[in-house]
Amino acid sequence: MVQISAGKGASKYQIQIVGKNLPKSILNKHIRKTNKVLIISDKGVPKSHIKMIKSLINNKNKYVFILEQGEKSKSFISYQQIMKKLFDLNFDRSDCLIALGGGVVGDITGFCAATFMRGIDYIQIPTTLLSQVDSSVGGKTAINVPEGKNLIGSFYNPKFVLISTGFLNTLSSDEYESGLGEVIKYAFIGNKKLRNIIEENANKIIKRDEEILKIIIKESIKTKSKIVTKDEKENGVRAILNFGHTFGHAIEAYERYKNVTHGAAITLGMIVASKVSCFEGYIKNYQLDNIINMIDSLGLKTDHSKYKYSKLKKYIKSDKKVLDGKLNIILIDEKFNAFKTSKFKNKNIIKALG
Ligand code: NAD
Repeated sequence: MVQISAGKGASKYQIQIVGKNLPKSILNKHIRKTNKVLIISDKGVPKSHIKMIKSLINNKNKYVFILEQGEKSKSFISYQQIMKKLFDLNFDRSDCLIALGGGVVGDITGFCAATFMRGIDYIQIPTTLLSQVDSSVGGKTAINVPEGKNLIGSFYNPKFVLISTGFLNTLSSDEYESGLGEVIKYAFIGNKKLRNIIEENANKIIKRDEEILKIIIKESIKTKSKIVTKDEKENGVRAILNFGHTFGHAIEAYERYKNVTHGAAITLGMIVASKVSCFEGYIKNYQLDNIINMIDSLGLKTDHSKYKYSKLKKYIKSDKKVLDGKLNIILIDEKFNAFKTSKFKNKNIIKALG
C-alpha cells in the first residue's frame, strides 16, 4: 500500500494507492460511523465496482446516485438533481459524498460537496487512469456551462483519495491511453524517475501490470501533489501542469470534443510544445526524438500533421492562457524543467509547425 499526502494545513489529505484487493477497513477510517454516505457514479462505471465499494462501507445509511456518462453530466441540471437528492435524504453538514468514477464524476461531486450547506466532506475514488493520476488530486472542482468547460467551480480538497489499480482492468483502451498521456506529462515536467520507469517498462505498462501501475500512479501523483500544494489556487507554478494544453485544448475544440480523448489531444499538444522548445533552443534534437519515441513506445499517437496551425489558430487564440493578447505557453528545458513563457526568439514560431 502506498500513501502520499497533499494539500496543507487543515485541508491536508491522504492519498492511498492499492492493488485490486481493497481491505475492508480502508474507507471506514475516513467516514463517521453514524453519518449518511452518498456514492455518486455514472452509467459507464461497471456496476460491480459500485457494488464492491458500497459493500466496503459499514454505515447503515448508504445510498447511490448514478449520472449519465460523459461531459454532459458536469451540468447545472446534474448539480440540481444531486442537491435535491441530498435534501430528500436529509443530508446535513456532517455527512459525506463519495465520487466513484472518472474526472466527470469527481469534478461534479467535488463541486456539490464544496457548495452543499457551504461544504461537506467528500472522498475521491477515481476509476479511470486520468482521474487517478490527475483530476482526483488538487481539489479543482467544476461544472460546465454553455460559455465553456469548467467555468463554474471552486478549489475544494477531498478528505481522502482512494486509488485502486483494479478499476483499470475494465477501462477501454482509448480511456486507458488518455490517462497514459497525463502520466507522460509528469515524466516530462520534472520527474526523471518516472521517465526512466516508462523507458524500462513500456510493455508492462501497456499490459496494465498491477505493480508497475502502482508505481507510475505514485510517481505521477507525487509530482502533481508537490506542484498543487505549493500553489493551491493556480497563481503561479501550477501553470506548468498545462504542458501540452494550449495545443491540446485547441485540438479538442477543433474536434468538438468528440473524436479525440483529452489525454490523446494533450499528448499531441505535448509533442508540439516540445517541438517549440526545440526550435527555440531549450532542448536538443535528440531530446525531442526521445520524447516522441517514449510516447510511441506506449502505443500513443504521435502524428499531429492533421492539425495544421491554420485549423487550430482560432482555438489557440481563444484559449484561457492568452493574457493581454499574448500567448502563454509551457515549454521545457534541457533538464526537463517546465516553464511558462510568452516571449519567443523565433518570430511566428507556432506557424512554423505547419
Ligand atoms: P470520464 O469521467 O468521462 O470517464 C471516461 C469514461 O470511462 C466514462 O464513460 C466513464 O463512465 C468510464 N469509466 C469510468 N471508470 C471506468 C472503469 N473503471 N471501467 C470502465 N469504464 C469506466 O473521463 P476522465 O478522462 O476520467 O475525466 C475527464 C474529466 O476530468 C473532464 O471533465 C476534465 O475536465 C476533468 N479533469 C479535471 C481535472 C481536475 O483537476 N479537477 C484535471 C483533469 C481533467
